[in-house]
Amino acid sequence: MKVYKFGGASVRSADGIKNIAKIVSQETENLFIVISAMGKTTNAMEVVLDFFMKAEHELSLVKFIEVENFHIDIINELFVQPEKGISVVKPYFDELRMLIREGVGDEYDKWYDRLVSYGEVFSTIIISTFLTESGINNKWLDMRKLLVTDSNYREANVRMTESQINLLDAADFKKSNIFIGQGFIGANIIGNTTTLGREGSDYSAALVGNLLEAESVTIWKDVPGILNADPRLFENTVHIPELTYLDAVELAYSGAQIIHPKTIKPLENKNIPLFVRPFGNPSATGSVIKATTEKPIDVPVLILRKNQVLVTIRPRDFSFVLEESLSKAFAVMNKHRLKVSLIQSSAISISVCVDNTRYLSGALDELGNDFKVSYNDKLELLTIRGINDEIVQQTTNGRIILLKQGTRRTGRYLMKETN
Ligand code: ASP
Ligand code: MG
Repeated sequence: MKVYKFGGASVRSADGIKNIAKIVSQETENLFIVISAMGKTTNAMEVVLDFFMKAEHELSLVKFIEVENFHIDIINELFVQPEKGISVVKPYFDELRMLIREGVGDEYDKWYDRLVSYGEVFSTIIISTFLTESGINNKWLDMRKLLVTDSNYREANVRMTESQINLLDAADFKKSNIFIGQGFIGANIIGNTTTLGREGSDYSAALVGNLLEAESVTIWKDVPGILNADPRLFENTVHIPELTYLDAVELAYSGAQIIHPKTIKPLENKNIPLFVRPFGNPSATGSVIKATTEKPIDVPVLILRKNQVLVTIRPRDFSFVLEESLSKAFAVMNKHRLKVSLIQSSAISISVCVDNTRYLSGALDELGNDFKVSYNDKLELLTIRGINDEIVQQTTNGRIILLKQGTRRTGRYLMKETN
């Protein structure tokens, strides 16, 4: 069997969903299809959640009705008989509306998973029903009943053994050739919904691939494959047809948004190739990530990680023992879920570059107990793999650089944002 994953951009419109039907109908092998929430639904649900957490239930409902209407508009355009689509999704709309009305938003992370996860439930039930209506038999699965995780809400860790037992049982290809499940979501052992982290559907697809021992996993994207840079940010990008798992991990870690950083490990463990293919042009080959490639990547690869903050800390008592300070500081950062993208240490301070998330202020407060903390925001981190003078000149000329790091092959430049 193979795993196909379709992301939010692929399912943001009726046309996108029709294109899925076309792609899937041409597949002759057994398929497990992993799908994200439609378009920007996850962002919209975060707004619903924010009002809910402030106990502003009415405003939360108003925002949720916008989400509902977005889905209903797609259904109206997609189905010959829209009632069919509406009738399958309505029970979930009702369930969520009830939760918003009656729930008490105590713990943010827990409620995040409980509410925001509905985006994936809506998208998969609608698409599964549409495929059935189009003559493509398939079975819809609720990943909240199959993918077992710990209780680390918003960034849950998957329990592989339990999940595998569940999945093997549910996705029985003797009963159906196509199964459809949600990306991004699962549940802990007592059934509370969990999520795997923003953009986590790629990771879900990789987990399913691993657990069902797929022959390959394909992520369908709105790009021609993997490029050496984001074409929205850099000119003259080139297509990279083949990458190793290690290449992919490095790129993802540096902030390349092409795949979620956690995606590679479950695939590498079972030597399953990952294809990245263009959703709009299914006959093109795209790119493949696998254990070994014919030749190494021979063009510079540029990755820009935006919205960075450089945090510098010094021990308050001047008793600087680097190892001790490092371990203390990193324990705090880990606790607050900061994602560290670069580290630099000197005799009297440690600097780390982190994503600017909602957790940052809590982390800075706690670091302030033991350290003198200062920070610089509105930064971006450029990583160049396969560095040469010309490319450095082209990409950093005239920019304010706060910090530079490099090896023979890779250069990293932390710069002030332009504009
Ligand atoms: N819908 C989730 C998100 O937008 C998961 C995903 O798209 O991968 O973060
Ligand atoms: Mg997405």
